[in-house]
Amino acid sequence: MTSARHLQLETDLPEPEPSRNFEISPDQSLDTSNLVSWLDSLALAIPEGIALIDSCGKIAYFSAGAEKITGWNREELREKSVFEIFSFRDGEKWLELAGCEPLEECQAEALHRDGFPLPVNYCLVRPVNQNVESKTSILVFRDSREEVAARKLRAFFLANITHEFRTPLSSLNASVEFLLEEIQFLSKDEIEALLTSIHLSVTGLQTLIDNLLESIQIEAGRFNISPRTSDLEKIITEAQRVMSPILTRRRQILKIHKPEKLSLVECDPTRITQVLVNLLSNASKYGPTQQEIRVKVEPVDENWIKISVIDHGPGIPSQEKDKIFQQYYRLGTKSNAQDGIGLGLWVVRVIVEGHGGNVGVREAPGVGSIFWFTVPSVRKTA
Ligand code: ADP
Repeated sequence: MTSARHLQLETDLPEPEPSRNFEISPDQSLDTSNLVSWLDSLALAIPEGIALIDSCGKIAYFSAGAEKITGWNREELREKSVFEIFSFRDGEKWLELAGCEPLEECQAEALHRDGFPLPVNYCLVRPVNQNVESKTSILVFRDSREEVAARKLRAFFLANITHEFRTPLSSLNASVEFLLEEIQFLSKDEIEALLTSIHLSVTGLQTLIDNLLESIQIEAGRFNISPRTSDLEKIITEAQRVMSPILTRRRQILKIHKPEKLSLVECDPTRITQVLVNLLSNASKYGPTQQEIRVKVEPVDENWIKISVIDHGPGIPSQEKDKIFQQYYRLGTKSNAQDGIGLGLWVVRVIVEGHGGNVGVREAPGVGSIFWFTVPSVRKTA
């Protein structure tokens, strides 16, 4: 029965390329050449990485999945010690731990061929039927970047997000309670002021949730942009509408400078609106009250349109100009910092770069910052 199945495997599956196998160290108790070709055929169908580690700790076999995950070609690893590519928590003692039952899944780091450390989850097992002295082991591993990112995000979320939700929620609660209790005694203006405050809290929460959802998609590698021919005019109007309660509360005036006729843009309109809302809410949050915020739209050339948001805030120190577009990066000491979690500009960068555009910041003449980004314009056909 076993041999029939084995035979079937050998005839049905594509022949492994002999040139891609390299010899493994002799091991009396194991028919290694058979094992290597069997593994090779099987491994073609398995996205996880499989490495066979010989008694001396050398990598004797590296599957196609392993090559894809680490970027290393098996020929490059010929005769290399597994410890040159993987760092295990237990160091070299690790091989001793292999048993015939797979160990619980563990975390390690692989050195990617491009030079960066790659988090991996792995299991290690010693094939059955080999003698006790022999230490040939099979390492099965997979890229765990997504899991690590999700873990990091979860930890960050729990540590920081409570405050970010609690502030607008408390304000919402207080306004609604006050309205319910006092509505018959309030003037129209007072009711309007309370509703504006409620609108403000809801807008803040919505922007926060949008950025968090976007960030989860990005971290999980499921961030897709669906560009289509879009009206930039409508995008700006929508961003203005979203921002209006915040601007009203801070008594800031938004001025739009744009060519009379705007060309169409090739973009994901919801995402570009989010970019503009993020930049405008920063301009409002970090800028002084009762000041003007400007949006300037200008063509760069026939392929690109540049949109700038100009504020009168404290500006960005030149050594921080690139860093503020990193995830969770924030400026300012605890005492003078505004609320925030350092996701907005990162999301802006990922969305803009996803459209093939650029993003940056420079000083505004006098005081303040100019945050700008580019979007592809739709070329007019002759
Ligand atoms: P958050 O505002 O939640 O901290 P962002 O990613 O939007 O996150 O911004 C990152 C940091 O960049 C902020 O903490 C702030 O210090 C700085 N920043 C962003 N926009 C401005 C601005 N218009 N003026 C001054 N500083 C800004």
